[in-house]
Amino acid sequence: MRLRVAGCSGGSVKDRFLSCFLLNDIVALDAGGLTAPLTLEEQLRIRHVIVTHTHLDHNCGLPFLLDNVFGKLDEPIVVYATAPVVRSLETHMFNDELWPDFAKLPSEAKPTLRFETIEAETPFRISELTFTPIAVDHLIPTVGMLVEDASGAILYTSDTGPTERIWQVASTHPRLRCVITEISFASDDDALARASGHMTPRILASELRKLTGKVPVLVTHTKPGHLLRIERELGAMGLDGVELIEQGRTYEF
Ligand SMILES: [Zn+2]
Ligand SMILES: [Zn+2]
Repeated sequence: MRLRVAGCSGGSVKDRFLSCFLLNDIVALDAGGLTAPLTLEEQLRIRHVIVTHTHLDHNCGLPFLLDNVFGKLDEPIVVYATAPVVRSLETHMFNDELWPDFAKLPSEAKPTLRFETIEAETPFRISELTFTPIAVDHLIPTVGMLVEDASGAILYTSDTGPTERIWQVASTHPRLRCVITEISFASDDDALARASGHMTPRILASELRKLTGKVPVLVTHTKPGHLLRIERELGAMGLDGVELIEQGRTYEF
């Protein structure tokens, strides 16, 4: 599978885009940087959007994508999320107040947006990709995602603090090519990271002890004010196989 890093920043600043990973051009895994780094043609190719949780940095591109593709699609954009996330997006985002309810526009019979409710541990398929949501430990209901195709699998943890289940899945999957996980803060902000359900380099190092077997680990979601310190720390710690994911790069797995 092809994974393009549209955005991998844990905060929004010039030239750094929020969490959004494009799979085979048609699926967006999280929807932070869903529009700002992409041309209109690239946006029109996206037909499926998976939202891992309701924090804005993971879905704020969605309203603007729907606005851009409005009237140009034969089929609605399908947004996959767990029930509490769907409810929250319906209530707080597409409520005809913060933004139009694209699930009814241009008409209820032919909408621009359709929600598909997903559940942890229940796989679903989009074209040749199979997705399995896995609950992680963040402040609010959040799922990471196992993504598999015929050639292998990758695992995206989304935002999480110390957690268990997703490391079990990572440790037992026979064809896992890569884990994409988060470091938000530098290690001297340990208390803040733990209080907000995020990780530091030191917390990740401890989490990686749960990962049996060797698989490359790509780090996403660094907060802009912490990026340099995180980079320095990771360099000094010399964690084998762990590196920062690169915004704009396309990875082949
Ligand atoms: Zn979050
Ligand atoms: Zn986030």
